[in-house]
Order: sequence, then C-alpha cells, then structure tokens
Amino acid sequence: MTIGVTLLQEGNKTQLAGWFAGSPPSVSFEFFPPKTEAAEQSLWAAITQLAPFSPGFVSVTYGAGGSTRERTHATVQRLLRETPLTPAAHLTCVDASREEVDSVARLYWDAGVRHIVALRGDPVGGGAYMPHPQGYTYASDLVAGLKRIGDFEISVAVFPEKHPESPSFEQDMDVLKAKIDAGATRAISQYFFDIEHFLRLRDRAQAAGITIPIVPGILPIANFAQAEKFSRMCGASVPPWMQALFAGLDAQPQARDLVAAQLAATQCRLLRSEGIEHFHFYTMNRAPLTAAVCHMLGLRSNC
Ligand code: FAD
Repeated sequence: MTIGVTLLQEGNKTQLAGWFAGSPPSVSFEFFPPKTEAAEQSLWAAITQLAPFSPGFVSVTYGAGGSTRERTHATVQRLLRETPLTPAAHLTCVDASREEVDSVARLYWDAGVRHIVALRGDPVGGGAYMPHPQGYTYASDLVAGLKRIGDFEISVAVFPEKHPESPSFEQDMDVLKAKIDAGATRAISQYFFDIEHFLRLRDRAQAAGITIPIVPGILPIANFAQAEKFSRMCGASVPPWMQALFAGLDAQPQARDLVAAQLAATQCRLLRSEGIEHFHFYTMNRAPLTAAVCHMLGLRSNC
C-alpha cells in the first residue's frame, strides 16, 4: 500500500533491519523449585523448551527461610544429572545459622555446583528483617562465607529503583561494592519496566568504579494483576503507560501473551542499543513467553 511505504521512513527501515541483524545476546533463565508433581512436570517441560537456547546458566531460587531447601537442591541436582545446563543455586541468610547455610553450600560444592546466587532474603511472612543470632547478617557476609567454602562463582542482587529498605542509591552502591570485595563477580538486577531505571543504575555503578557485569533482570508479564501486586512488594514501579497497555488483557490471555512478549523484546532491544548484551529472564517456570522473546532477539532453539 503506497501510504504504508510512504510511512516507512528510511530511519525506521534501518531500525527494523538493525533489530533483526547481528549476533544474538547471551541469556540466563531463572526458575523456582516446584511444590507439586504437576508443577514439577510443567517446570521440566519449560526447562526442556528453553534449554536449546543455550543459556549461560540457569538459576533456581531459594524460598524464604530455606523453605525450599530440599526442593531447590533436588532441582539443581536434576539439572546437573539430566541436562547440559550450568545450574546456579540461590542461597539466602534468613532464619538459618552460618553452620546451616555453610552445610547447604558444602552439599552444593560436593555435588559439583560451582555458581551460587547469594542473597540476604526477606523475613518469612513479612515485617522487619532480623538476622539470625548465629547467622550471616547481609549478603556480603554470605558471599565471604561461601568463598571460604569453595571458589564458587558468585552472583548477587542489585536494585535499579533502590532496595526498598535502603536509605539511598549511594548506600546501594556501597553495599554492592562490599559484595564485590567479598568475591561476587556478577550482579543481577531486580526486574524493572522503565529501562531508564536500569540505565541510571549502570551509570551509578560506573561512577562508583564498579566493573563487574550488571545483568538486567527481565520479567515477561505472565499475569498483569499479579505482576502489579508483586511489584508493590518488591519496590519495582509499574508506569502508567503499562497499566494502559495491559488494561483488560488478563481476561484475554492470548492477546496478553503477545503484548507481553513484544514489550519484553522491546525492553531488551532498547537495552541492547545501550550496549547491554546479557539478559536474565524471570521465567516464572513458563517457557512460551521467554522463548518468544529469545527468538525475537535472534536466538534460535534449533528444535
Ligand atoms: P543485601 O545486599 O544484604 O541488602 C539488603 C539490605 O540491607 C539493603 O537495604 C542494604 O542497603 C542493607 N545492607 C546491606 N549491607 C549492609 C551493611 N553492611 N550495613 C547496613 N545496611 C546494609 N529472595 C529469596 O528469598 N530467595 C531467592 O532465591 C531470591 N532471589 C533473588 C534473585 C535476584 C536476582 C534478586 C534481585 C532478588 C532475589 N531475592 C530472593 C530477593 C532478595 O533476597 C531481597 O530483595 C532482599 O531484601 C535483599 O537481598 P540482597 O541480597 O540484596 O541483600
């Protein structure tokens, strides 16, 4: 149609071609340990569908207060046993003595796990965080403890919109530096929707002399109402344009998935245009959205 051709300006053509050209980024995927047999089956279906995208690593979360200790361990073990993937086990400080945390870390080391995502964790059931009297107080203490056990690769958390309990962005940078000094070599961000939040975090890290990779955490929206609720709890803001974009879509899951995949792919493309080449996907144990985004970024599952 003539008008369509006229509207497709030269700049837009170049941009579209740019989106689909060049080498794809690298990715990692986050899963949570399943509670039921049915959830286990759907997790493994998701892992099977996403594995061919050759993620750099796949991480498995650790429930509040160690509530998923056995399930996290079992999932990580099965990843080691049955897949070519490199697992990263999350581990937290909450409600456990150092001895207990160390014994979990030793089990991982003995099983061949070499990558830990080290976190403080949040209090079980909400409220103010109180360290265990014999426990690690902060994530930086945990990182140091892990390094005493084995030469783990250690990733830690960062927060583009500031950690909710932190008084300032400056403190967030000091805390990240302490985790790096203790041995962390990668930071993975809390998810965000406005990419400016991530880019400002990267600017602050650069200004603070931080050179480890800071990997954006990307959440493809599987359910908008739930994402809004969770975002309120973890301090990630939901911009008004997103509320408009997803209005009414939870009742139309197929349309919502298409919109969600397109949005996450656009976030990644904008971040790539700023030089970011690794993305960590919060998969919510569902493959289709993350697979669609990876495909749009140029990754191929070859299956
Ligand atoms: P920290 O780095 O210890 O920081 C926590 C707070 O303490 C911050 O406000 C910081 O400013 C403050 N602080 C740190 N050090 C000091 C100090 N020396 N003096 C004074 N204040 C200090 N939670 C889970 O339960 N299980 C998971 O598997 C999990 N995975 C996650 C993965 C990612 C990528 C992210 C981003 C978060 C994850 N979380 C998980 C959530 C995380 O545990 C919470 O956000 C928690 O509140 C902060 O963890 P942290 O490791 O950043 O803590």
